[in-house]
Amino acid sequence: MSTVPRIVILGAGYGGVLTALRLQKELGYNEANVTLVNKHDYHYITTHLHMPAAGTDDPENARIHIAKLIDEFKIDFVKSTVVQIKPNEKKVILEDGTLSFDYLVIGLGGEAETFGIPGLQQYALNIRSINSVRLIREHIEYQFAKFKREPHRKDYLTFIVGGAGFTGIEFVGELADRIPKLCKQFDVDPKLVGIVNIEAAPTALPGFDPELVEYAMRVLTDKGVTFKIGTAIKECTPGGVQLATGETIKSTTIVWTGGIRGNRLVEQAGFEAMRGRVKVDPYLRTTQHENVYVVGDCSLVMNEQGKPYPPTAQLAMQQGIACARNLVATIRGEPLREFKYDHKGVVASLGKGEAIGIVYGKKMTGRKAAMMKKLIDLRYLFMIGGIPLVLRKGKF
Ligand code: FAD
Repeated sequence: MSTVPRIVILGAGYGGVLTALRLQKELGYNEANVTLVNKHDYHYITTHLHMPAAGTDDPENARIHIAKLIDEFKIDFVKSTVVQIKPNEKKVILEDGTLSFDYLVIGLGGEAETFGIPGLQQYALNIRSINSVRLIREHIEYQFAKFKREPHRKDYLTFIVGGAGFTGIEFVGELADRIPKLCKQFDVDPKLVGIVNIEAAPTALPGFDPELVEYAMRVLTDKGVTFKIGTAIKECTPGGVQLATGETIKSTTIVWTGGIRGNRLVEQAGFEAMRGRVKVDPYLRTTQHENVYVVGDCSLVMNEQGKPYPPTAQLAMQQGIACARNLVATIRGEPLREFKYDHKGVVASLGKGEAIGIVYGKKMTGRKAAMMKKLIDLRYLFMIGGIPLVLRKGKF
């Protein structure tokens, strides 16, 4: 019987891919058997998804085949869906089999959090995966086509985006860029089209610098976006949304970006979790099982003030690297290192050539911020696939 430890990584998102790539680099042959499991045979760049969702970019540009990222002599890739995690039995149940592990890394990402708002689960669309953005893109075009057949139906041309956080703002920026092109393509008067961004919190982009928020609102309003800030959605129906203010907005398109929670599988596995996010120890392990690590949107890491860090790609990537380092240390009997998050900053796109951001404490807007966003994207491609991937997928 082999005594080589078995490491199973669930999810090939930012956290899972970085864990796998670091293990691939650090581990020698026969130090461990590493298996990466993912629903699809590609990794998607979630931070790009607002573009294909709005139709300003091809979904193909937001995905990378896993076979192009990993060395299959060092890592076994299994394309399958995880249906259950059994930490006590050290087993993972897949839709088509079972995997046993000595060490487990959970990086299954997040899901939309609807806060129990009636109808959101059934009627709203979400920007979460390649398949979900293909649906949004097709749906938007279809509304234009339907309007041409029923020109009295203005609701076909009203696009509601629930949530003015990072994802909502980036999506409305792209959608506002796409609308003039769709109007031209379908011979529709642009004045008939509306984009309504609804946010329950008292500000858009909660937590962002107020001056930058103001800049973003100005840019997006000039592009034709209507904001309803401090306004909660009470109910979502197939025909639109009802707001807490009593107002009803008729629309056949509701894209919900207003909340994110961790993958439900982690709660079902019995890990102590807050909205699907598992509180991890300083080494990124669950508090109940020392051999189970959690990275990315499924994990809950606290800052110095005892508040959870918001789930971001930046955090997931750093966790992936730290998790791999600790796995290697465990296998070699070396001491583990505590995870320390290095928050480098944040940049939000507002459509073509426009963005806002704070990087290393420095505020930026407009083209400069948009360039920074591109650099961040290119850096990520370089990290996971070197120059060849930058040349293949990078947009200059
Ligand atoms: P993910 O990247 O979501 O990956 C999870 C993986 O698990 C996926 O490959 C999925 O297919 C797989 N999976 C899920 N369930 C199963 C299952 N049951 N079985 C098998 N596989 C499964 N963050 C930033 O830092 N900067 C940004 O600019 C930014 N922009 C964003 C824009 C948008 C539109 C969105 C939606 C998010 C953005 N984020 C951004 C947040 C960031 O994308 C997430 O925090 C990050 O993707 C989390 O990484 P992860 O590894 O936890 O999960």
